[in-house]
Amino acid sequence: MEQAIRDVVIMGTGPAGLTAAIYTGRANLKPLVIDGSQPGGQLMITSEIENFPGFPEGIRGPELMDKLRQQAGRFNTDFAFGNVTEADLSRRPFQLRLDDGKEILTNALIIATGANARWLGLPSERAYRGKGVSACATCDGFFYRDLEVFVVGGGDTAMEEALFLTKFASKVTVVHRREEFRSSKIMSLRVEKNPKISLELNKVVEEILGDGQKVTGIRLKDVKTGEITEQSCDGVFIAIGHAPNAELFEGQLDIDEYGYIETAKTSTATSVDGVFACGDVQDYTYRQAITAAGTGCMAALDAERYLECIR
Ligand SMILES: Cc1cc2nc3c(=O)[nH]c(=O)nc-3n(C[C@H](O)[C@H](O)[C@H](O)COP(=O)(O)OP(=O)(O)OC[C@H]3O[C@@H](n4cnc5c(N)ncnc54)[C@H](O)[C@@H]3O)c2cc1C
Repeated sequence: MEQAIRDVVIMGTGPAGLTAAIYTGRANLKPLVIDGSQPGGQLMITSEIENFPGFPEGIRGPELMDKLRQQAGRFNTDFAFGNVTEADLSRRPFQLRLDDGKEILTNALIIATGANARWLGLPSERAYRGKGVSACATCDGFFYRDLEVFVVGGGDTAMEEALFLTKFASKVTVVHRREEFRSSKIMSLRVEKNPKISLELNKVVEEILGDGQKVTGIRLKDVKTGEITEQSCDGVFIAIGHAPNAELFEGQLDIDEYGYIETAKTSTATSVDGVFACGDVQDYTYRQAITAAGTGCMAALDAERYLECIR
């Protein structure tokens, strides 16, 4: 029996993928949405979201994702569990394979596989995630009004996070393992000149300290002298970069030097016709739920127009 060919398949059920599902579903394209190993995406591991429009009291991450999934389900959306482990974009229709071996054929593909923050890998960092350890100042900075925080990292992201946090925190300390920052000169200068920011250079984080409930301090090691010091603080922001989930498409799509899928300037089109990318997997700059949802909408509209053209 010949295998059915889907109009559109969406990889990922974070805000980008589910928004793309709502739009393609309402356009009668009967999308198939593949969950991946983290159904609901990154927001499933966060408690309170205060900056997603429409929820004046804030909303818990899992609750928001549940609402988006229900909304997508209203419009003839099919869901499939599992990870896409193989994708062949050189043939038409595109061919995907799930980890259970199932093959899927589709005329259009929307990639909404997100990105994961890079972590230091310390057990204490994991233990205090959401209890004082964060990888997103835009998301969590607000909770540190008049408190003391550390930012770990030496690139532009770390500088941006540190500067942003000075709007709330009483003191921000940047920890970097080298003498010089990797960030652009202008960003480094802004950080160095900011009276609220202190620097701990040539230092690495040995441990994040806490009382079992929340972060209370940080233990640093001087990489030159080996000296260990402990300082008290209320929060630790890890800003050592993000890893976009785009490995599957290496060699098939244009991917930038940081691993993000490249999209056209004013659309979500990738370097292969009929393949669209949205959310954190193509967004080095904003990485927010609402921007992911916004580009998810764009990808759906782009896919819809593409399908009209090839019919
Ligand atoms: C702790 C934390 C707190 C945050 N707080 C906020 C906040 O308060 N406000 C805010 O706006 N943003 C916040 N963010 C950022 C926000 O979560 C992301 O910007 C947003 O989730 C990105 O959405 P996305 O749909 O692009 O990807 P994601 O949410 O990362 O979803 C990716 C999806 O792709 C799937 N996937 C991956 N690989 C495959 C594959 N091979 N096959 C099939 N599926 C796959 C995953 O299973 C997942 O379902 C926070 C992030 C974190 C980590």
